Amino acid sequence: MDDRPAGEMAHGEIRAAVSRLCAGFPGEYWRRLDAERGYPTAFVQALTEAGYLGALIPEEYGGAGLQLGAAAAILETIHAEGCNAAACHAQMYIMGTILRHGSPAQKAAYLPGIAAGTLRLQAFGVTEPGSGTDTTALRTTARRQGDEYIINGQKIWTSRAEHSDLMLLLARTTPREAVARKTEGLSTLLVDMRAALGHGLTIRPIRTMMNHNSCEVFFDDLRVPAANLIGEEGRGFRYILDGMNAERLLIAAECIGDARWFTARSTAYARERKVFGRPIGQNQGVAFPIARAHAQSRAAALMLREGLAKFDAGEPCAEEANTAKLLAAEAAWAAAEACVQTHGGFGFAEEYDIERKFRETRLYQVAPISTNLILSYIAEHVLGLPRSY
Ligand SMILES: Cc1cc2nc3c(=O)[nH]c(=O)nc-3n(C[C@H](O)[C@H](O)[C@H](O)COP(=O)(O)OP(=O)(O)OC[C@H]3O[C@@H](n4cnc5c(N)ncnc54)[C@H](O)[C@@H]3O)c2cc1C
Repeated sequence: MDDRPAGEMAHGEIRAAVSRLCAGFPGEYWRRLDAERGYPTAFVQALTEAGYLGALIPEEYGGAGLQLGAAAAILETIHAEGCNAAACHAQMYIMGTILRHGSPAQKAAYLPGIAAGTLRLQAFGVTEPGSGTDTTALRTTARRQGDEYIINGQKIWTSRAEHSDLMLLLARTTPREAVARKTEGLSTLLVDMRAALGHGLTIRPIRTMMNHNSCEVFFDDLRVPAANLIGEEGRGFRYILDGMNAERLLIAAECIGDARWFTARSTAYARERKVFGRPIGQNQGVAFPIARAHAQSRAAALMLREGLAKFDAGEPCAEEANTAKLLAAEAAWAAAEACVQTHGGFGFAEEYDIERKFRETRLYQVAPISTNLILSYIAEHVLGLPRSY
């Protein structure tokens, strides 16, 4: 178990190295991309070359073979430095589905390329316009025909689809009416988007309030080799669930990073900005929201630490992963709100980066899972209350 004193941060060397890398990507870099809705190619390239995006891939496949705690330290630091990992964080964890459920041939075919950065697997096609959070109601189908699957349907909010070679797709292979439980009959397939584009696959970007490179994806009789099925047909929902704790813990780490960035900005400004002849931070009305957000963030970080320790020890951690995600997303938002308020009018000026980070961090109360659905999970599965949906 983790026996560091409270407050001490693990993976100090990794954090320091990531901070040095991030120093090459200052606020102007992100501001320009935000205005253009551009993709941070150079930043992603630098992370790839440094080996960070292959952190979780075992060494036998060319990755760094690190544990989730190290991946969390990488992502937290990126966000604490004012950068944003959303353009590439999924490259770290989507491959977990191949690692846990893929065949030896699939692992050998894909993992080394992903580790080296020559193959990008960072599109995750689960959400659909008609199903939303009710994943098992999804309507995209994969119909087996000989040694291929024929895919028809639509996904929405497929982030990074234009910047990924492969997509991990969840589709229905057996009609809902033909399975005993709605979680059955769904399968995971790897779609090679390079080959598919224009041959049954269409990608349409969605403009959002922050720069997130999210897309709509349409499948029209797209043919995918049956060899691209991951694991057993019909068990895909289970495979997706298996990866969710890792995703929630890593997103929580990014939120803690955001909270640290906002609070560092708030405290620096509250010390130096003088109004009525004294630093604004001397007013408790200014200091208390910053202090409260800091307290929230520290509590979330402890929950994250517990979740990561359990995950890395191979213990069940759904309660901790969900709770950490909930608390960290709220702490980041509280810190963001305090930061805008502390900066007064300058909180709205683009050149301070605060309004950009404010827009970016709001996402995490909705995606990849909304706060309400986490509360539902805790109510039902932790507290034993009746199922609400
Ligand atoms: C920028 C962005 C990037 C994303 N990236 C991806 C991606 O890469 N891949 C992917 O598959 N998806 C992605 N998503 C989708 C994301 O996971 C969903 O938006 C999220 O899970 C919520 O689903 P929804 O938008 O359909 O909302 P809905 O399911 O329609 O819910 C709307 C609101 O109602 C609430 N609600 C619904 N049901 C209940 C209930 N039973 N009890 C209480 N409240 C309820 C929800 O909490 C939410 O606030 C992304 C979304 C965004 C915005």
